[in-house]
Amino acid sequence: MKQEIQLYNTISRKKELFKPLNAPNVGMYVCGPTVYSDVHLGNCRTFLSFDLIFRYLKYSGYKVRYVRNITDAGHLEGDRDEGDDKFAKRAKLEQLEPMEIVQKYTLGFHDVMRMFNALPPSIEPTATGHIIEQIEMIKTIINNGYAYEVNGTIYFDVEKYSKQYNYTILTNRNLEDMLANTRELGGQDDKRGRLDFALWIKAKPETLMQWVSPWGMGFPGWHIECSAMSAKYLGQEFDIHGGGMDLAATHHTNEIAQSEACSHQQPAKYWMHTNMLTVNGTRMSKSLGNGFLPGELFTGNHPLLRKGYSPMTVKFFMLQAHYRSTLDFSNDALEASEKGFRRLMNAVSLLPKLVASEQGNIEVDPIRTRCINAMNDDFNSPVVIAELFEATRIINTVYDGTAKISEAELEKLKTLMNDFIFTVFGLKDEDTSNTELNEVLDMVISLRKDAKENKDYATSDQIRIGLQNIGIQLKDGKEGTTWSKN
Ligand code: AMP
Ligand code: ZN
Repeated sequence: MKQEIQLYNTISRKKELFKPLNAPNVGMYVCGPTVYSDVHLGNCRTFLSFDLIFRYLKYSGYKVRYVRNITDAGHLEGDRDEGDDKFAKRAKLEQLEPMEIVQKYTLGFHDVMRMFNALPPSIEPTATGHIIEQIEMIKTIINNGYAYEVNGTIYFDVEKYSKQYNYTILTNRNLEDMLANTRELGGQDDKRGRLDFALWIKAKPETLMQWVSPWGMGFPGWHIECSAMSAKYLGQEFDIHGGGMDLAATHHTNEIAQSEACSHQQPAKYWMHTNMLTVNGTRMSKSLGNGFLPGELFTGNHPLLRKGYSPMTVKFFMLQAHYRSTLDFSNDALEASEKGFRRLMNAVSLLPKLVASEQGNIEVDPIRTRCINAMNDDFNSPVVIAELFEATRIINTVYDGTAKISEAELEKLKTLMNDFIFTVFGLKDEDTSNTELNEVLDMVISLRKDAKENKDYATSDQIRIGLQNIGIQLKDGKEGTTWSKN
C-alpha cells in the first residue's frame, strides 16, 4: 500500500509528492552525531524525527536503506577551518586516546537511541573508516577544477563553482550578501576566496588524528565525509538527505557543492530539515551549555527540572509537535505529555478487555483515514495524536458501556492503535506494575538506604550504577527513593 506522501523539500521550499528514484527502494541519508561528547535532547529530537520518517516509509511499504553516519574526525572548534580539533581537545581533557572518546560517546549515543526505542539505521558508517573514499572524492574535485592545494591543505573553490552552479540553492541567500558578511581573509589565511572551505587539512606534527594522503599527512574537512559516504552506500543520486535545520546553511550547502563538483549532479532529490528544540526560546546547543542530557531528564537531576520524565514521555512530547516547528522545552508541557501518554497506554491496556456487541455504532475507518492523511501530509504526527485521543475516548466509552462496537470494528480499532502507537511512533509501554520486580526493587532500594546510612557509598553507588546498566533509574527525593524503567 504505497502512500501518496507529500514531503516538504528544502530545495523547492514547498511540499512535493514523494517519488523515489527506484521505488519501492528508498535511500535516506541523515547526518549523525559528532561523538566527542554526549548527545543532548536537541540532537535526539532530530534523530527521533527521522526515526518517525523511517518508520512511516517502511510502514507504507517502502524498502528503506537508512544511512546515518557517526562523525568521529575532522571537527574543529572555530567556525572556519581553524582551531583545535574537538576530539583531540576532549581526549586531552579526559586523558584518553581520541578513539576511546569516539567509542565512549558512540556507545552512549546508542544507549540513548535504544532507550527512546529508535530503530537502528541500516548502515552507520564512520568518518575515520572512510578516509580513502574521502581522499578519492577530493582527488576528483581537484581534477574537475573546483579545488586547489595550498601547502598541504585543499580548499574548495566556491567562486568558481558558483559560476556554474547555485551555491545557495538550499537557503536562497544572496552570494554578494554572504561575501559581505564573511570576515575578510586574515594574514594567515591561505585560501583564495572568503567562502572557500577546506576539504583536507594539513596536520601539524602534534595533531593526534592524522592520515597519509597525496598531499601529505592531514585529516578531512568538515563536510566531505557525508558526501563520500552517502555516495558510497546510496549512489551519486539518492532520495532523501536530512539533518537539523542548523546544518542547511553550511554543512549541507557544502555537501551539495562537493557532490556537484565531483559528479555534476545533486546528491539528493529531497532535502529535509528538522526544527530546533529550544529552552526558553533559545536553541539547545552543545556550545551554549543549555543542553539537557537524556540521562538528566530521565532522573530529574538538573536544576531546570521539577522531576524526572521517562523516555516515552519525552518521545511523546516530541511527537506532539510537527518536525518542522520549533519545540520549546518546559516542565508543564512534559507533565501534560506524561498524563497524555498514560491515558493512551491505559486505553491500550483496556483493548483486550473490550466486549464486542452484535451491532455497534462506531466506525474506525474514518479515524484511520485521517491518521494516514496526516502522516502523508509531511509526517504530521500531532494530528495523528489528536486522532489517537479520539480512539482513546471511544475505547473508554465502550469499556464503560456507554457505546457499542461490532466485532469487525473492534479488530480495526486494535489494529489502528497498534499500527500508529507502536509501529509508526515507536512508543512502548513502560509499565512498572510488575509485582515481583517491584518487590525485588523495594528490597534493593532498602539495602542501598542501609549502605548510605552506614556511609558505605561504594556499595550504594554500585547498586545505583548496576541498576542503571540494566535500564532502571533511581531517583532520590524528599519522600524516599523511586525508580523508573528506560
Ligand atoms: P551534532 O552532533 O552537533 O552534529 O548534531 C547532531 C544533529 O542534531 C544535527 O542534525 C543537528 O542539526 C541536530 N541538532 C543540534 N541541535 C539541535 C536542537 N537544539 N534541536 C534539534 N536538533 C538539533
Ligand atoms: Zn553530514
